[in-house]
Amino acid sequence: MTFYVFTVFYLLISACFIYPPIEFVSAGITIKDIFSSWLGNENEFFVQYHIKRSIATLFVHSMLPFGYTLGIVLFGNVEAAQILLGKENPLWPTLAACSLIGPIYALFKVIAWSKNNWSTHPIAECLSVYCNNNTTNWMSVASDINIEYRRVDKIVIDTNSVTRIVATDNWIIKVSPYKLQIAHQSDTALIVNKSDTHVMSPTTRGEVQFVNIEVKPTRNGAQSFNIRLNALDFKDLQDKILRPITVLDNVTFHRTVLDRFIDTFKEEVAKNPLYETNQELEQCIGCMQTTSNVKLNKSCNNISEEFGPDACVTCYCRPMWCIECMAKWFASRQNENATETWLSSKCTCPVCRAKFCLLDVCLVKINNS
Ligand SMILES: [Zn+2]
Ligand SMILES: [Zn+2]
Ligand SMILES: [Zn+2]
Repeated sequence: MTFYVFTVFYLLISACFIYPPIEFVSAGITIKDIFSSWLGNENEFFVQYHIKRSIATLFVHSMLPFGYTLGIVLFGNVEAAQILLGKENPLWPTLAACSLIGPIYALFKVIAWSKNNWSTHPIAECLSVYCNNNTTNWMSVASDINIEYRRVDKIVIDTNSVTRIVATDNWIIKVSPYKLQIAHQSDTALIVNKSDTHVMSPTTRGEVQFVNIEVKPTRNGAQSFNIRLNALDFKDLQDKILRPITVLDNVTFHRTVLDRFIDTFKEEVAKNPLYETNQELEQCIGCMQTTSNVKLNKSCNNISEEFGPDACVTCYCRPMWCIECMAKWFASRQNENATETWLSSKCTCPVCRAKFCLLDVCLVKINNS
């Protein structure tokens, strides 16, 4: 019995080491926390730190099968394992031997990398693509990256508990468990090729959007890689990148919370009854760009007897705003920290201050007759 408990427990712990949940990260039980004194200072020696971190990761991951075998022996579960596999089953010693292959392989790998001052380590090889000629080596590229990483204006985005995107003045770096993938901004194309939306909970209309960005360095030998990040982080990244980020035509996503709100606002307003008029419409006084197309026309059954001063009232203003500006105005009057309540909240007419809710915003339809 203890054999099964141990197996399940060990699998769970192993999974948490490979892909740490938030609880592990905040409790400091991750590979980089455990080895922090050996890894050194990430801010000072970014590249060296990540070479060490990748080695620590490889070491820990390769030890997992061995740890399991060791655990079975230490906790006296050998008999249980033997019963399960059969006493004479040659699988058991074979498994025990196999669990040693991982750490031995890792050890050989690390020894091989350490020759020639780590120049054959995958991260060093990735950097050496950016050496200008034979006079410089990966160390000089590393020191350039280290210098830029020390600056306070770099952008660091954690895309999940094991992957992180770093953008410095000249570099875009993707940090993953075993690798650093690097591109120099000057010769790199960034293309947003996919977006996907996930509904967090159907009641609050909360949704998260992710975008997939392909980072394509044109330099010989440099490999392209993908970045997947929350659409709301996109603007931060874009601001730090010198080159424009191409968004393919078929990809739509919301770069800001306001962006997302405006779209939802439009969707909701489209469900309301139209306001018919034969008045000539003027330019929107908010943006002076488009013809005004919304009228605040009380259509909700929100009456003062029931809601007191909080009730919606009639606005007598003519249509003066476009829906885009009305959405922005609406958003600007809401509590910035409670975006989930925006749609159900109220606002006042920008001109007469009449209180209105989302149900009272009507698109205008011109009657030509
Ligand atoms: Zn407008
Ligand atoms: Zn008004
Ligand atoms: Zn209302």
